Amino acid sequence: MNYALVTGGSRGIGRAVAVRLARMGYPVLVNYQSNDAAAEETLALIREAGSNGELLKFDVSNREATVAALEQWQASHPEDYIDVLVNNAGIRRDNLLIWMEPEDFERVLSTNLYSFYNVTRPLLQPMIRHKHGRIINIASLSGQKGLPGQCNYSAAKGGIIAATKALAQEVGKKNITVNAVAPGFVKTEMVEGLDEAELKKQIPLNRFADADEIAAVVAFLASNDAAYITGECISINGGLYT
Ligand code: NAP
Repeated sequence: MNYALVTGGSRGIGRAVAVRLARMGYPVLVNYQSNDAAAEETLALIREAGSNGELLKFDVSNREATVAALEQWQASHPEDYIDVLVNNAGIRRDNLLIWMEPEDFERVLSTNLYSFYNVTRPLLQPMIRHKHGRIINIASLSGQKGLPGQCNYSAAKGGIIAATKALAQEVGKKNITVNAVAPGFVKTEMVEGLDEAELKKQIPLNRFADADEIAAVVAFLASNDAAYITGECISINGGLYT
């Protein structure tokens, strides 16, 4: 069977993506780090959507733990493979660079960028063997234009966009597409504490996005309708940056 893996699938955008992929018929592997209750809730939503799934709890920034979890899953599913990978897990630790502690720079880079390497690399060989794969990376507006207070986050997300373009050229001949989406502001726990009323004045559509509006584009990129799109980064930002 062909599975989909959504990193950071327990909450926010990842949860919405997991449910969309379930509706498309994929059994969905929900990766998360710590929030068991939220992950269980996502699994219930996947089942409500008519599919099934499994929880895979590991820290995407930890290479050994990530590789071990993916190898263990593959060993217990010898007939199956992960056909759709959504690299979504992410955090932010904002501060002006002059005040930013090294651990906040490193933590954001390891969770948002090194995770791309940790999770994607072990899954490439099976995709190549099956001559089909879809890799979708959740980048950000911050990685396109840079945002003050986010040197760490902008660097990680800009890196993801560049890696998307590079990997797309490496694996295109193997019928694997690699794309990114770059959301603006999305209503999830990640943006709690931001002044939505003030910020939305700068957004031509005058509101933050719902997580499902990001998930819809991810689902499209995972579908056969997007078979000829690769190496792209699609902005989903209400017109905030074009
Ligand atoms: P969120 O609501 O804070 O959810 C983050 C998810 O990532 C949770 O499932 C969390 O798991 C998981 N996670 C965090 N660190 C992890 C780690 N080290 N290993 C495994 N899982 C980890 O965030 P979101 O707003 O949905 O963001 C999802 C993605 O979209 C991120 O890459 C973010 O940078 C990007 N993005 C968000 C926005 C926005 O406005 N919200 C805009 C642009 C881009 P637990 O539940 O276990 O904590």
